[in-house]
Amino acid sequence: MSSTSTSSYYSECTWLSSFLSKPEFQLLLTTVPLTYFQESLSLYGLEQEIDYFKEALSLILNNQYDCDESETDKVERSATILYAKAHQRYIRTAAALDEVKTAFQNGNYGTCPRNSCQNQHMLPFGASNDPGKSILRCYCPVCGQLYKLYQANADYYIDGCFFGSDLVGIFLATYPEFTRYPKPAAYVPKVYGFELYKNMKGKAK
Ligand SMILES: [Zn+2]
Repeated sequence: MSSTSTSSYYSECTWLSSFLSKPEFQLLLTTVPLTYFQESLSLYGLEQEIDYFKEALSLILNNQYDCDESETDKVERSATILYAKAHQRYIRTAAALDEVKTAFQNGNYGTCPRNSCQNQHMLPFGASNDPGKSILRCYCPVCGQLYKLYQANADYYIDGCFFGSDLVGIFLATYPEFTRYPKPAAYVPKVYGFELYKNMKGKAK
C-alpha cells in the first residue's frame, strides 16, 4: 500500500476514506481527527482488546502496515473495530457533542415514527459498547422509545458500538433543554365526536 501523510485531515484514496465513504457513515458519524488516534490516552486499553492493533492503527494513520498479505482481511477488520471504538470515545468529547447536537437538530438521526411525537428528531443509541453485538438504533426524547435507525432505508447499517449505550444520557445531561418536551398524548378513538371508551363505559353501567 502507498504511504500518505498523517495530517489531521483525511487524505483521498486511502483505506480510511474508502471505509468512511458509505452514505450512512457520511451522514451519521462524526469525523474523528487523525490527531485523536495519535494521543496515547485516547486509545488507552484498546491495544489489549483489538487483534492486530498496531497494524490497524498504522492503516488508519498511514494507509500502510507491516504485515503478511494473507492477513490483510484481519488487519482491515481490526481497523474497522479500532475506528468504531475511537468514535465511541471521541463522540463524548465537548467538540463532538456539539456536532451531535447540530446533527440532532438537523434530523440526521431520523424522526420518531410515532404520530403523537410529531416528527421529533432522535438521538443515536447502541445497546452494546462492543462490536458485533447491536445495531444502531435511535432514541426519541419525547416518548422515550427506541426505533430502527432508518425505516425508510433498509440498506443503512451501522454497528451500535460506534455510539455506545451511554451517549444519549451524556448528551441529555449536557443539553438538558432537550429533556423538557411535553409527554405525547395518547390517541383517543372517537365516534361522531364522542370518545368511544366513555360511550362503552356508559352502556356497561
Ligand atoms: Zn417518539
